[in-house]
Amino acid sequence: MDTSVSSFRRHFLERVGKPLKTSVSLKNYSHFRIGGKAEGFFEAHSVKDLTQGVEVARKHSFPYFIIGGGFNILFDDKGFRGLIIKNAVSGIKAKDKVVECWSGTFLEELIHFCKERGLAGLEFFAGIPGTVGGAVCSNAGAFGKEVGNYVQKASLLDREGKKFEVGREYFSFGYRQSGIQKTLDIVLNVSFGLDKGSSVDIKKRMDEILQEREKKHPPKHIACAGSYFKNPVLSSGEKVPAAELLEKVGAKKLEVGGASVHPSHANFIFNRRNASSGDVLQLASELKRRVREKFGVELEEEVTYLPEKISGSSPGRE
Ligand SMILES: Cc1cc2nc3c(=O)[nH]c(=O)nc-3n(C[C@H](O)[C@H](O)[C@H](O)COP(=O)(O)OP(=O)(O)OC[C@H]3O[C@@H](n4cnc5c(N)ncnc54)[C@H](O)[C@@H]3O)c2cc1C
Repeated sequence: MDTSVSSFRRHFLERVGKPLKTSVSLKNYSHFRIGGKAEGFFEAHSVKDLTQGVEVARKHSFPYFIIGGGFNILFDDKGFRGLIIKNAVSGIKAKDKVVECWSGTFLEELIHFCKERGLAGLEFFAGIPGTVGGAVCSNAGAFGKEVGNYVQKASLLDREGKKFEVGREYFSFGYRQSGIQKTLDIVLNVSFGLDKGSSVDIKKRMDEILQEREKKHPPKHIACAGSYFKNPVLSSGEKVPAAELLEKVGAKKLEVGGASVHPSHANFIFNRRNASSGDVLQLASELKRRVREKFGVELEEEVTYLPEKISGSSPGRE
């Protein structure tokens, strides 16, 4: 083991009181099932562990990156030179119409909690995999709704390791984007402002959404990260589904190595068989080229690509 990794490992144990795993295959932490090994890997189950893990990494100038469920990420085949922190800090509580939860809570658990208590608003999360932190980071949404509209306040950890509280405006939420994709603040805790509703109606809406998704989306088990590209806005101001443009450039017939476009949805790149990150990136680049040449539209990735090496700044979106 590299001496800097072994000294980091020792300090990590001293400070956090938990062992750091080394040489961990990232394949198992991404729904794409792609990725080499991370030098360091730690699953945080409390905010204290998470903040202390970040503190040790900062002190050692050891690059670190936070993940939730790994449903919207493509890891590099070369792995990650640094520490991957998997956020498993979960828990939910409600007071009147406000639901507060830790950011490692899975969306499925959150909407179940809301349904049981008759709190409406977040039904659109039905069928979206991942954690609250990942969803806030990308302003996840579906069926015309997005999570940013429901965020009231949040507690964050910045790159200097400082905790602070913010209101919704801090995030500058946009379509599948938020300011923290650039600042790389870590979301620790989020409060959502919801409406009173009936559990029966909420369940009915969730069931309808799940049925809709089943009709439109490829089967759940395929190894992918959901829609690969955001829906572009044309110069006329009209937003078009990326899948529509992709279909018109013959995307559904394309594959590179083990990566293919799903035959039922032109905006889903999936790992058909032992795909490498390079296969996925090459396929995505060919799709972008075709759409650019035919429609003059530059597609933008929705999926985060984490390269082997990052500096202090934002990881590359290829
Ligand atoms: C089959 C399928 C369907 C999908 N459908 C939808 C959909 O309809 N709508 C939609 O919006 N998305 C969809 N997605 C994408 C994905 O579910 C969401 O982006 C989800 O919010 C990812 O959460 P995660 O915890 O898995 O994030 P990860 O994949 O672990 O991380 C994604 C990004 O979020 C950041 N992040 C994670 N946790 C935190 C945190 N605590 N603080 C700060 N940053 C954090 C990571 O650093 C990374 O940049 C789909 C994905 C799949 C596989």
